[in-house]
Amino acid sequence: MDYESLDYNRYRWNRMLLTGFWAILIISLFLEGLYLTITEMPAGSFIPKFIVKPTILQLTALLFAETALKVLKGKYQDYILILTSALLAYILVYIHDSVNFLLLALFMPVIVSIFYFQPRKLVFALGNTLLSVYVMYLANEFMHREISLVGLTTITVMFSAFSLVAWGIIMRGRELMSNLKSYYESNQQLLVKTIWMDKMVKTDALTDLYNHMTFHEYFEKLIEQHEQHNLPLQLALIDIDNFKQINDTYGHRAGDSVLREVAEMIRSKANSNDFVARYGGEEFAMLFTDKSKADALSVVEQIRQKISEKPHDALGGKPVTVSIGFGEYTLGDGKERFFTQVDTALYKAKSSGKNKTVVAIESLESQLA
Ligand code: GH3
Ligand code: MG
Ligand code: MG
Repeated sequence: MDYESLDYNRYRWNRMLLTGFWAILIISLFLEGLYLTITEMPAGSFIPKFIVKPTILQLTALLFAETALKVLKGKYQDYILILTSALLAYILVYIHDSVNFLLLALFMPVIVSIFYFQPRKLVFALGNTLLSVYVMYLANEFMHREISLVGLTTITVMFSAFSLVAWGIIMRGRELMSNLKSYYESNQQLLVKTIWMDKMVKTDALTDLYNHMTFHEYFEKLIEQHEQHNLPLQLALIDIDNFKQINDTYGHRAGDSVLREVAEMIRSKANSNDFVARYGGEEFAMLFTDKSKADALSVVEQIRQKISEKPHDALGGKPVTVSIGFGEYTLGDGKERFFTQVDTALYKAKSSGKNKTVVAIESLESQLA
């Protein structure tokens, strides 16, 4: 599993750590200042040994870190910070070699490594820590004298045991991250599924147009809107002529193919403000919301024309025709009355010869050839 992707704000956290390291420099300066007031050592010896020297060394380590971060453009940033913490701890212990308990500070890199939740960084940090201990033991005369080999072994074992605790924290953190990630992923899957199911519920599988139910929901909403704001609204009901005969002659599969192609032709004439649904078996409904009555009627007529000219391979190259009932909503009519008017216009188109559009005008129908 790629934990890098969950490694949020790594640079920001490292920046905070480095700022913390700068704070260590300032705090140690402050503490040394306090010691200066109580020490029996002459200021002339104290200041160079405990103030000037550590400040220069710590400054060097911090400037090394700042430069390395810039030059490497964030690459190896975690390792640079672990190493810097090791250097700072080493300087602290080296300057105060007579204060035994300060040896514990050498454990700092391990604590810093916990930040990254990666065992290999913990191993790198423990390596830094133990190396510091041994270098200090070998290079510093005072430590060499003060600490026995058994003492050194104890420190090694103790630091390793503490590191095991750090490893436990890291593993627990990784487990949490992994849980979080799978929770996040299943949430994503659920979202995709919900969107997909929403589409399934709203659309017709054969033509991919909206279905009967969605048509009625949308139709109702548009009528409400029309009643409130008097916006234009036209409805066309488009029914394929003699479709039963097509099925009987060419088979159901050929019928399905015709349905898909007719649906596609209707869709291709609709813009984003129009609404197209497969209203019934071979019936389609179209709603227009941004057009004048004449413009909407012109689109409807184009659709009828285009369908009647398009040959279908499934029908041996023959076209099909459609009959259309068309109407514009009049304020106060209501959904049922409006729909019945348009449906009646469709019935008129069928009964007067098919392949035509009949317009419903305030319950009277006018006929287009
Ligand atoms: P008219 O010109 O009066 O509209 O006659 P018609 O034959 O088109 O109308 P009718 O209502 O008698 O028949 C519609 C046919 O549409 C009957 C049904 O088998 C067929 N049909 C409905 N849904 C589907 C479908 O999903 N696929 C296929 N292939 N046929 C369908
Ligand atoms: Mg029909
Ligand atoms: Mg029908």
